[in-house]
Amino acid sequence: MTNSPAYDLIIKNTRVVRPGKSTVDLLDIGVKDGKIACLSPELSPEDAGQVVDAQNKLAFPGLVDAHMHTGIYNPLAEDARTESRAAAMGGVTSSLNYMRTGQYYMNKGGPYRDFMPEVLEISDGNFYVDYGYHLAPMMNEHIREIPDLVDKFGVTSFKIFMFYGSHGLHGRSSDQSDFLMTPKDEKYDYAHFEFVMRGVKKAMEQHPDKKDVISCSLHCETAEIMTAYTRMVEEDGTLTGLRAYHESRPPHSEGLAIAIASYLAHETDCVNINLLHLTSRKALDSAERMALAFPHINFRKEVTIGHLMLDVDSPCGCHAKVNPPIRPRADVEALWQAVLDRKVDWIVSDHACCKEEMKVDNQQPDKIFLAKSGFGGTEYLLSALISEGSKRGMSYSHMAELVSGNPARRYGLTTKGDIAPGYDADIVLVDPAEGFVVHAENSQSAQGYTPFEGQELSATVKQTYLRGRLIYDNGTIIGDPEGRYLKRPL
Ligand SMILES: [Zn+2]
Repeated sequence: MTNSPAYDLIIKNTRVVRPGKSTVDLLDIGVKDGKIACLSPELSPEDAGQVVDAQNKLAFPGLVDAHMHTGIYNPLAEDARTESRAAAMGGVTSSLNYMRTGQYYMNKGGPYRDFMPEVLEISDGNFYVDYGYHLAPMMNEHIREIPDLVDKFGVTSFKIFMFYGSHGLHGRSSDQSDFLMTPKDEKYDYAHFEFVMRGVKKAMEQHPDKKDVISCSLHCETAEIMTAYTRMVEEDGTLTGLRAYHESRPPHSEGLAIAIASYLAHETDCVNINLLHLTSRKALDSAERMALAFPHINFRKEVTIGHLMLDVDSPCGCHAKVNPPIRPRADVEALWQAVLDRKVDWIVSDHACCKEEMKVDNQQPDKIFLAKSGFGGTEYLLSALISEGSKRGMSYSHMAELVSGNPARRYGLTTKGDIAPGYDADIVLVDPAEGFVVHAENSQSAQGYTPFEGQELSATVKQTYLRGRLIYDNGTIIGDPEGRYLKRPL
């Protein structure tokens, strides 16, 4: 008798959480060749090469963290290694990363046909989880490349940074083309954004089979409003820290940018629009109005776990500087209400590992306008959502929609985002009754601090499986970085 077993792995006694389901059922999960083969109340242990008893832990589909920035402040190879460990620790099995030409990231310009092969070569063998890229067309040549980027590289989502007009990454900037490394005679402005949308629309037309998963994402802040308010707040000088940063990039700057983006989407018939990291009541309100005004546009609304867990009075201070800013408590509550009302489509980390020595000015660490923007958090995404969401009455399946199912569908990850036969066996086992206090020293990330320091979370990610292979077990990363490139649609 040398018959190979029906399953490579059976995970017994899991409470399976699935997007869109009203119940969480106690089931055994059978895995074969990296895929989920069977869900059943009782699978026989004899049928498996390996059997694990999950002891009634929750099984979430592996998270799709649809907004990360691997390689922005540290060399890509190194950042991929350390920060994808943090992802695995958080139950993330698919990491979608924003990438562009210009300063930071790869610190180079040029067409994406030369840039992307280098990014993919450096990425290969350095990610512990599966990974993909969103790209930002920064110059005219990039716009012409969009249909090819879909075909050759499987990149189906394109980003516009609306605030780069007269702002750099961290504050006012006088020379846009130096920062973005774009031709001197080109401008990164509303006209450029329009032509990016036309390029994305053209890609949809050229790839009718993929048109539903081709989309345009926008960072919605208005450069002119931010520049004026930043000057006012800096000259006034009475406000400090996160509150000063919030006032320097006020919520109506988001609302206005959303209105402009939406009208451009309408004008260009670029119908799949993702409004990234909305942070305020005014941003949500603007998005609602635009959805009513332009019902033929398929808007998606994103919120980050940082904007849900922190406010301007959080003790982390400059460590939580991020764009758009952390907001006052009333805005945080408005975000939660939108989540509960199903007006938010997905929740992400916006993970960008920015180490202490780079994050704050070493002479004046309390000066918010001297600090750099962005911080990590992918390792806390699920634990934090379960902790705070449970308090607010959210169901587990709703949470799974927000961190797995919805982003997987929008971004063309057709074998990700659910626990069902035929899907990749990306599974997170969670103990919803084991709490912990966040301490950066316990994180797999290389960042060294976290704005979430000291927060008490009520649920712990215990194990993470990537395509049926255990990659994280109770505090330890298992095995080598064997994440695969997600050429979309899968
Ligand atoms: Zn981001």
